[in-house]
Amino acid sequence: MSTPILFLVTRPVLSSPPAEDAGFVQARADAPQLNVMDLGVTRGDGFFETISVANGHPQALEPHLARFSHSASLMDMPEPNRTVWRQAVLAAIAAHERESGSSPELFAKIIMTRGVEGTGMATGWVYADEVEDFGAARRDGIRVVRLDRGYRHDVAQTSPWLLQGAKTLSYAVNRAAVREAARRGADDVIFVSSDGYALEGPTSNVIARFGNRIVTPQTDQGILAGTTQASVFEFFKERGFETAYERVAADLLDEADALWLVSSVRQAAPLRSLDGREFPVNAALAGQLNAFLLARVK
Ligand code: PLP
Repeated sequence: MSTPILFLVTRPVLSSPPAEDAGFVQARADAPQLNVMDLGVTRGDGFFETISVANGHPQALEPHLARFSHSASLMDMPEPNRTVWRQAVLAAIAAHERESGSSPELFAKIIMTRGVEGTGMATGWVYADEVEDFGAARRDGIRVVRLDRGYRHDVAQTSPWLLQGAKTLSYAVNRAAVREAARRGADDVIFVSSDGYALEGPTSNVIARFGNRIVTPQTDQGILAGTTQASVFEFFKERGFETAYERVAADLLDEADALWLVSSVRQAAPLRSLDGREFPVNAALAGQLNAFLLARVK
């Protein structure tokens, strides 16, 4: 079994007081470290990023750190000290490689919370661990259902306090959606706005191919701007496809030539069915796309 590597981030924000350490210290991942009054636990009041690590390289680290800061700003939290977080991620990866003696596919998770109630001081930590085997999802595809998210596509503009588009720790809803998918005989979900637009998965972005065009739902609809989606666009552009961010009516997905859910860690999972309707999986293309994603060195 793999042993996660944990670093507690002692200087998580730019305004943290200076200290002797590098801004992070290694701690035991199998021992309790968090205060039970931490608002990240008691209210899910915090945000996170999950970064893929392949061949020892964190992928899209800078876009992840930028999105981490964006989440902080959407949640009225202080600006993370990106230099410290970057170094903590690299240190966690290096420590994992040292301890495991190899360079397996990893993920590094960075988490910052509003801190222990009453202290006004953010809490932060980073851990790195091995990725489970996503070979089947990447190669054979996944079964997906569309589920109503219950918000209009313009929720981020009309109701920013709902924090749609921030990567908050409050993922209980996202997990519940995946359980609903399982009840419907599927593996994953595409959320649909209450006014009928395709949005994103609970932990992924949607990519659709219509002939020579590769489309993803535009990111002003209360969804995350995906780091993997950006790389997937690069892959298709290099192969002569046109790429576009658009509003995609949920029903239009039925007419796509191919669909994928893309995210850090699992990378690109082609859809083999949507609401029970079969989609052909192009295994060769899925292999090339995942090889391209895993070969990223930044
Ligand atoms: N949308 C949501 C809600 C997510 O949680 C994630 C990733 O976890 C994504 C999209 C995909 O983002 P990325 O490709 O940067 O991992």
